[in-house]
Amino acid sequence: MHTLDKFYIDGTWVSPEGTGTMPIKNPASNTQIGTLSMGSAADVDHAVAAAKFAFDSFSMTTKPERLALLRQLLDVTRRRQGDLAAAMTAEMGAPATMSFDVQAESGIGHLVAFIDALEALDEEETLPNGDILSREPIGVVGMITPWNWPINQIALKVIPALATGATCVLKPSEHTPLSANIYAEIVDEAGYPAGVFNLVHGDGPTVGAAITAHPDVAMVSFTGSTRAGVEVSRAAAPGIKRVTLELGGKSANLVFADCDLEKRIAEGVAECFDNTGQSCNAPTRMLVERPVYEKALRLAAMAAEAQKVGDPAKPGDHIGPLFDEIQYDRVQTMIRKGLDEGATLLAGGLGKPEGLEQGWFVRPTIFADVSNDMAIAREEIFGPVLVMIPFDTEDEAIAIANDTEYGLAAYVQTGSAERAARVSRRLRAGVVAINGRGSDYGSPFGGYKKSGIGREGGIFGLEDYLELKVRPPFQA
Ligand code: NAD
Repeated sequence: MHTLDKFYIDGTWVSPEGTGTMPIKNPASNTQIGTLSMGSAADVDHAVAAAKFAFDSFSMTTKPERLALLRQLLDVTRRRQGDLAAAMTAEMGAPATMSFDVQAESGIGHLVAFIDALEALDEEETLPNGDILSREPIGVVGMITPWNWPINQIALKVIPALATGATCVLKPSEHTPLSANIYAEIVDEAGYPAGVFNLVHGDGPTVGAAITAHPDVAMVSFTGSTRAGVEVSRAAAPGIKRVTLELGGKSANLVFADCDLEKRIAEGVAECFDNTGQSCNAPTRMLVERPVYEKALRLAAMAAEAQKVGDPAKPGDHIGPLFDEIQYDRVQTMIRKGLDEGATLLAGGLGKPEGLEQGWFVRPTIFADVSNDMAIAREEIFGPVLVMIPFDTEDEAIAIANDTEYGLAAYVQTGSAERAARVSRRLRAGVVAINGRGSDYGSPFGGYKKSGIGREGGIFGLEDYLELKVRPPFQA
């Protein structure tokens, strides 16, 4: 049993002012594995005061000093990768192999890319007009993260603050506190000065809202649902804070007849089901060119059949459970909606897979003959549910892909380099993957439209945390 009854504030673990608690649950067994103390606005005040005080000196550190600290952070993160992975498996059900190789590894991959970006960043330069431009850390940054990629999201926010000389208060998802606590231990061991990084646990309406509205927080970096993103934007507006948002998605995967169909369909299905469908950039709408549509349905059904579901504690390439009962109910409701809307059930369906009745496991599901106005094609389901939609022309495929309120990612499968470039240009999405290849650490990640504001990762991720200042060249 884990008892998480301390917050990391001002370089030390302190008892919270808040008095509430919440169970930490394992989604695979639906059993309680710990208890989390929940913070209050007073805890946020304490953490922001520490971050504000630390900013005075940390913002004046040199780039070599911050690079040295980041390299120490890298050493410790590498050493604790297994601990991070085990925590995420326990608290949100990421399968052991994927949790280590992808979920926990993201804390290392992003860090390496941020080190490269900081090395390349010009903190001061002379503009063509002769004025001197400097890039300075923005101040205290409030960070609010979700449960589905816990360390990935924390790394994308905390590291650029540490890299630029900003200080921060992190509120991780109340559902994934174990990995967040380990991350705080990592930052502590790396040797950051007290107050540079602070961790306050709690829920969105209490701790998240207090961070967002706090007068001494200069910027709020939020990842989560579009619903909460709107609330964060509203609450931050009176303080004229900088707000960056990484929100939901309903990403299209455009499959053209000239691609390697067997491979691309199998991979497209697996990518949709990865992390049990709980990824903001999951390719959840597969659009298939009409002449190969029937064949694609057969291939997709085979891929769904081959998708193993199982105990996340065991190594292997299976997927685990959804992360909680609310998520389970939501996915069941959406599957029922798809059936009611008249879509053809190609694989999976309602209920739990055989032998996995205890946890929040679901059946990997595919709907065929979906039209883009059905709820299952429009709403983010956040489970392993794929919809397949036929199209006749490239123009039609692009129109369907862009006919969504989101714009996070898009996927293109084609044997033609010209088509890949042409179609990518017309897709209203921040990240385009082509023939199974996505972007690497260090590339900007973020979305158009209701998928967010701003970009995370690499040099663009650093820029979000910087203010620009100009002064003329000195003349006596
Ligand atoms: P959520 O919006 O419920 O919660 C996210 C975080 O916001 C949590 O820490 C929560 O406590 C906090 N929060 C909730 N209400 C708040 C409020 N009013 N003020 C301040 N904070 C508040 O989302 P979730 O269920 O944890 O995560 C799933 C969502 O996150 C999905 O929509 C997914 O697409 C999105 N997501 C987006 C990205 C991306 O990079 N675009 C990445 C991962 C997840």
